[in-house]
Amino acid sequence: MNIAVVGTGYVGLVTGTCFAEMGNHVVCIDIDAHKVAQLKEGKVPIYEPELDMLFERNIKAGRLQFTTDLQAGIDAAEVVFLALPTPPGEDGSADLSYILGVAKQLGKIMRSYKVLVDKSTVPVGTAELVKAAVAEHATVPFAVVSNPEFLREGFAVSDFMKPDRVVIGCSDDKAAKIMESLYKPFVRQGNPIYFMDEKSAELTKYAANAFLATKITFMNEVANFCELVGADVDKVRIGIGSDSRIGKRFLFPGIGYGGSCFPKDVQALVKSGQDQNYDFQILQAVMAVNEDQKTILLPRIKNYFRGQLQGKKIAVWGLAFKPDTDDIREAPALYMIRALLAEGASICAYDPEAMLNVQAVLGEQITYAPDEYVALSGADALLICTEWGVFRNPNFVAMKDLMKDAVIFDGRNLYDLEEMSKQGFYYSSVGRQNIMRS
Ligand code: NAD
Repeated sequence: MNIAVVGTGYVGLVTGTCFAEMGNHVVCIDIDAHKVAQLKEGKVPIYEPELDMLFERNIKAGRLQFTTDLQAGIDAAEVVFLALPTPPGEDGSADLSYILGVAKQLGKIMRSYKVLVDKSTVPVGTAELVKAAVAEHATVPFAVVSNPEFLREGFAVSDFMKPDRVVIGCSDDKAAKIMESLYKPFVRQGNPIYFMDEKSAELTKYAANAFLATKITFMNEVANFCELVGADVDKVRIGIGSDSRIGKRFLFPGIGYGGSCFPKDVQALVKSGQDQNYDFQILQAVMAVNEDQKTILLPRIKNYFRGQLQGKKIAVWGLAFKPDTDDIREAPALYMIRALLAEGASICAYDPEAMLNVQAVLGEQITYAPDEYVALSGADALLICTEWGVFRNPNFVAMKDLMKDAVIFDGRNLYDLEEMSKQGFYYSSVGRQNIMRS
C-alpha cells in the first residue's frame, strides 16, 4: 500500500519506518527542512532503540522516502497519517492548529480517494473537525479515522511492531477494511484490533495516559507518606504489585512524571472536562501532586547543606524525562536543575543521549560531562534524575574518590539501602529512609 505520514517526529518517523518494514511504500513529510535534509542523508534525528537499523534497511529498499512537499508526498498515497504536534495551548487545551491547518491544505490538494488517519493525541470531537476542515475544499471522496498511538518512547519500535492493541475509530466500512489490512501484519500473535466510533477512540488515548499518570502519582504520594511513618515504599510496591488487579508496572516512585505526553494529555483532559462543565477532580489532584513531586528533593538538598547551596557543585545524572530517549520535554531533571541554579549551585550534568537537547535549552548555564564519572569530579553531591541502565551498577569506590563528598540524592531509587550504607554514602531517595554516613 502507498502511505504518507505528515509530521516526522517521534511518532511519525516510527510509524513510517514500521509500515515500510511491512512492505508498504511510505513517504514521510515534514515542514522542518533541516530535519528532512538529515533524513534524506540517512541520519535518524532522534534517539530510539532499534530504529536506525529498520530505517536504513527500508531506505535502501526504496520503501521509505522523505519530503517537505505535501502535495508530492500524498499524491500516490491511499492512506495519509497525521502525526502532528498537539501541544498545550495557553488555556491547557490541546492546540489543534497543526492538525486542522494540514487538514485544510489536504482538502485543497487531494486528487484521489484518501483515508486520513489521525495518529496524534486529540480531544473528543477532533475527527469531526478534521472532516469539516477537509470537506471545505475537497473535490474527491475521503474518510477520516482516529487511530491513537500508544507507543512509548524508548520502546517505540517494539511497541509499534507488537502493539498490545490497535484502536481504530471509524464509521466508514471501506476505510475500516483498509485500516485492518494495514495493521494485520502487526497483530499476528493475536493481539486485538478494536474498532469503535471516533469519539471513543479519541478518549481511549486520553484515558490511558491519564490513568497511567494517576497510577504513578498515587505511588508517589504513598512514597511521601512512607517517609513520614518510617515505611519502605519498595516493600509496599512489591506488596501491592503482586495483586493482579493492581499489577507490577508503573508503581515505581520518583521525582514525578514528565515527557511530551502525560503532562499535556492530563491537562488537556481536564480542560475538555471543563468545556463540558465537568470537574475532573482526580486529575486536578494528579497535576498538583506531580508539580510538587518534581522538586521534592530540593528542600532535602538545601537542608543537607544547611540552607546554603551557593557555590556548591552538584553532579546530575540523567536529563531525559526517562531512560532510552533523548526527549527532554517536561523532564523533571530540568525543573531540579533550574531550582538548584536559582539557589546558586553549579551543575555538571551527564546523560547518555539528551545532552545536546539540554544544551539547546540551558546553554552554558551548566557544564556537560563526557561521561557519568567525569560529572562527579569535585562534586559536593550527586543528584540522579533518570534511571538509565548505565547508572544502575556504578563503581561506588571510584565515585567516592572523585566526589568531594560522598552524598547522593536519588530521584529514581536506583540503589539498595544496605549497599549504600556499606559503601559509606549519605543517601537520600524517595519513600525510603535516609542513609547516614557511618
Ligand atoms: P514531534 O514534535 O516529535 O513531531 C511532530 C513533527 O511534526 C515535527 O517534526 C514537526 O516539524 C512536524 N510538523 C509540524 N507542523 C507540520 C506541518 N504543518 N506539516 C508537516 N509536518 C509538521 O511530536 P511527537 O512526539 O511525534 O507527537 C505527535 C503526536 O503524537 C502528538 O499528538 C503526541 O501527543 C502523540 N503521541 C506522542 C507519543 C510520544 O511518545 N512522543 C506517543 C503517542 C502519541
